[in-house]
Amino acid sequence: MHCPFCSAKDTKVIDSRLVGGGHQVRRRRECNDCHERYTTFETAELVMPRVIKQDGSREPFHEDKLLNGLHRALEKRPVSTEQVEDVVHKIKSKLRETGEREISSHLVGECIMDALKQLDKVAYVRFASVYRSFEDIKEFGEEIARLGE
Ligand SMILES: [Zn+2]
Repeated sequence: MHCPFCSAKDTKVIDSRLVGGGHQVRRRRECNDCHERYTTFETAELVMPRVIKQDGSREPFHEDKLLNGLHRALEKRPVSTEQVEDVVHKIKSKLRETGEREISSHLVGECIMDALKQLDKVAYVRFASVYRSFEDIKEFGEEIARLGE
C-alpha cells in the first residue's frame, strides 16, 4: 500500500504478528522514501447475515454497533482491548455458524449476553439491564440473583 505520509509506492513490512487471539495480523511498515513507520491490521472478510429488527425491517450487520454496545457495558472494567476483540470474533462466528442469511436482533442480543456473561459479570448485568428492560424484568431479576450465588 502507499505510504500514508508521503504517498510513496514502496513500503516494507518490518514486523508481522498475530493478534486478537490469532484472528488478525498486525504489521509494522516502514516507508522506503520518508522512513515513517505505521501499523496495518489484516482480518478475513466474511459475509455476515443481515439483521431483522423488531419492526421487521432488515439491516446489514454493523460491527461498530456491536463494539459500541460492548464498550458501553465494559466501561471502566478490567478488560483488555484484546479480550474485547476476541469477544467480537466469537459473537460473529456464532452468528455466522447459524448458517442463516438473516437473523433476528434478538438472537444477536442473546449472543452478546452469553459472551459477556463469560467475560465480565458486571458488564453482563449492565448490558442485560438495558437490553432486557423491555422484555422480562422478572426473569432478569432471577438472573441477577443467580449471579450472586
Ligand atoms: Zn513515506
